[in-house]
Amino acid sequence: MIRLVVVGAAGRMGRTVFETAQADAGFEVKACVDPAARPAWAGDVPWGRDLAAVLSRGDVVIEFGGPEAAAQSARACAAAGAALVSGSTGLSAEHEAALRAASEKVAVLRASNFSLGVLALRQAIRAVLPTLAGWDVEIVERHHRLKKDSPSGTALELAAEIKGAQGLTASSLRHGREGSVGPRPGTEIGMHAVRGGTWVGDHAVLVAGDGEWVELRHVAQDRTAFAKGAIEAAAFVAKAPPGSYHLESVAHARMAARS
Ligand code: NAD
Repeated sequence: MIRLVVVGAAGRMGRTVFETAQADAGFEVKACVDPAARPAWAGDVPWGRDLAAVLSRGDVVIEFGGPEAAAQSARACAAAGAALVSGSTGLSAEHEAALRAASEKVAVLRASNFSLGVLALRQAIRAVLPTLAGWDVEIVERHHRLKKDSPSGTALELAAEIKGAQGLTASSLRHGREGSVGPRPGTEIGMHAVRGGTWVGDHAVLVAGDGEWVELRHVAQDRTAFAKGAIEAAAFVAKAPPGSYHLESVAHARMAARS
């Protein structure tokens, strides 16, 4: 049985992780951490603001509390000897450094998107782009009106994948267009962040050639897609030695278990 602490538990993702873990016989939700007041759905699971106060060696933390919570969780997990699954996006270099430092002491798995479909989308980009060399690539992502960071962490990872496949530099990103911008340079990756309504997460990679185009697209219909991935990642880090892990590590472990 994995003892789980959910950080950012009152939020959209935190609640979905809480409910997904409660329904999984392999997990016990030991505590929830969030500055917001305990919601009724949390029942009698211990609820507080201070992660360090509830954490013991061997626990696993799943964090969806935003960039500050990611860094705070990293420090608390490293001090307590607990593994960390971190899902927040929009991290600064300082937040990233806190996660890197923690990974020297405990297992830390980060993903800007925990859905299996997005992992497959990244693999598809790698497979398709060499055939379409020289075509124009644009990313269009859509999220709900309350999302804080733009473009999404997933869109930035997809862009990194595209840059790698096309040998482009960091300056290749073009965030939206306005005015007399002239012809599109072939080295650009257009990035368009659409915000509104309740979109959970929609990422389309458009690859445009002369007289034809290809669209690779992933749509998350509800947050359980992310929560299930985070729970599987928690089971992975519970057994992993200290280090920095990605969702690919979980996918490899799953494939190895099946073969
Ligand atoms: P949300 O605003 O609904 O929830 C965030 C929660 O964190 C709130 O309840 C807030 O009170 C709490 N919080 C704020 N500061 C905290 C702190 N220091 N310690 C503990 N809790 C704190 O947001 P959300 O939609 O659930 O998204 C949360 C984060 O997860 C965002 O960064 C988002 O981009 C990211 N996200 C990642 C994935 C993924 O698959 N990796 C999927 C969806 C969202």
